[in-house]
Amino acid sequence: MTHLEKLSYCGIYCGGCLNFKKNYNCQGCRYEENMLSDCPLRACAIAKELIHCGECEEFPCKELIEFYEDGVPLHDLAYKNILRIKEIGIDKWLIEQEELSGSKGK
Ligand code: SF4
Ligand code: SF4
Repeated sequence: MTHLEKLSYCGIYCGGCLNFKKNYNCQGCRYEENMLSDCPLRACAIAKELIHCGECEEFPCKELIEFYEDGVPLHDLAYKNILRIKEIGIDKWLIEQEELSGSKGK
């Protein structure tokens, strides 16, 4: 798995999550055996062979908007993450996130 494992399909930065960093119970949603493998957003992005939903011509689709607007702060942040990725690219965004979360090298 590449550094992309820290970016979920919907835009969540997994690298900042303790469950991911310490590998307690989550390896992000790019793993086949992931516990959230029944996610329709994930399944849709994989079927379209996209790295993330921001690459989709339908972005943000109805299902994704419902997810982003469900009141969970992390989901609203995921939308902002995708917009930022579209602006500066994944590599720069990952560096930015590592600096923001202080997760670099951990
Ligand atoms: S909602 Fe779906 S695409 Fe987003 S992190 Fe969870 S499993 Fe991945
Ligand atoms: S249709 Fe929606 S869920 Fe599917 S890849 Fe596009 S933006 Fe993501």
